[in-house]
Amino acid sequence: MSDKTYLEWPFFEPRHALLERELDAWAAQNIAQHHEADVDAACRRLVRQLGDAGWLRHAIAGAAGENIDTRAICLIRETLARHNGLADFAFAMQGLGSGAISLHGTPAQRQAYLPRVARGEAIAAFALSEPQAGSDVAAMQCAAVQDGDHYVLNGEKTWISNGGIADFYVLFARTGEQPGARGISAFIVDADTPGFEIAGRIQVIAPHPLARLVLRDCRVPAAQRIGAAGQGFKVAMSTLDVFRTSVAAAALGFARRALDEALAHTMQRKMFGQMLADFQMTQAKLAQMATGIDAAALLTYRAAWQRDQGRNVTREAAMAKLTATETAQQVIDAALQMFGGLGVVSEQPVERLYREIRALRIYEGATEVQQLIIARELLRAANTQEHTKEQ
Ligand SMILES: Cc1cc2nc3c(=O)[nH]c(=O)nc-3n(C[C@H](O)[C@H](O)[C@H](O)COP(=O)(O)OP(=O)(O)OC[C@H]3O[C@@H](n4cnc5c(N)ncnc54)[C@H](O)[C@@H]3O)c2cc1C
Repeated sequence: MSDKTYLEWPFFEPRHALLERELDAWAAQNIAQHHEADVDAACRRLVRQLGDAGWLRHAIAGAAGENIDTRAICLIRETLARHNGLADFAFAMQGLGSGAISLHGTPAQRQAYLPRVARGEAIAAFALSEPQAGSDVAAMQCAAVQDGDHYVLNGEKTWISNGGIADFYVLFARTGEQPGARGISAFIVDADTPGFEIAGRIQVIAPHPLARLVLRDCRVPAAQRIGAAGQGFKVAMSTLDVFRTSVAAAALGFARRALDEALAHTMQRKMFGQMLADFQMTQAKLAQMATGIDAAALLTYRAAWQRDQGRNVTREAAMAKLTATETAQQVIDAALQMFGGLGVVSEQPVERLYREIRALRIYEGATEVQQLIIARELLRAANTQEHTKEQ
């Protein structure tokens, strides 16, 4: 049984604790993790299950324009990650893939896509990265040229989660209003648009649908552009401000599961005439794991709460993602070590967690990118203070 005392923290409202309790019970009943060879089929099924049970409604903004509830998204990701990493992935991608529409879409775009995303009838994807533009998003080359009431898209995208199974992609392309980040726009590209192709699938250590995309003279109606022309970078970053914090929450879920597994194992593994949990060296490790998890949870739910207050969270979201993903990696590694040989047996929970956590330190901004963001915000604030003093 996982520690739930954090639900009493002042970041939450009573509805959040209720949400977590109901989802935890549902997940235990419906989505226990087991190895599935066909990851596409597993993802499609999980999206449907999450949609049918109503959980995906939390991944999008409400029909009446209610704001995204960042704390609810984080609690859901944490809980799903604790039960089943692929279910967390399916939920997260419905949110990330449609997030730009939730935050910046026109009423017509919201109506056309969000209800289907929430019911699990349309699978969403977020297509930002390119072979030469990963951490350096502004180096993006995929181009969109306006031609009457359409844009013509040409270029390549890579590392696109849900690539191959998504029904639509929120895709970022260079429209060239200004150089660099100020000349990018966001588009909704339906998967069946002529000129849009899945160029290849990518296999990774924790399997999930992932692909390379190619666009060749792909004509997209101008009405499918999200936000103003040239504002795509801002659209992408504001979406990431929500979902970056939720990556931290998923990492927390993985870490909590690892600690639960470690506690259960060390309390029943006998050696040298006592239990593994009786050794002080084990206890020191368990204490460090639990403390790291709480520190990461405090940063994560501070960022989520602050965003729900309508405040900027660029620095807080970066701190949360950096700390939660790095801590989770350490916690999971420590748990695996406590399992000895059993820890590296395929599809054992700790072995799976060990593979699942790794990519979280890379995507939606690698750890080093989060460090740059935090430092940039710190220096900017210090500069502003200096200027104010001089005046
Ligand atoms: C499993 C997975 C799923 C993904 N899903 C999506 C998706 O759905 N949509 C999407 O658009 N993208 C997705 N990505 C792409 C992801 O966002 C990029 O991989 C990430 O931004 C890093 O880009 P890159 O791989 O090109 O690495 P690079 O940009 O080449 O960076 C390599 C490494 O350099 C280091 N680094 C970066 N900047 C600095 C710096 N300033 N100083 C020092 N070191 C630095 C970091 O350690 C980084 O990991 C996914 C990636 C993975 C692995």
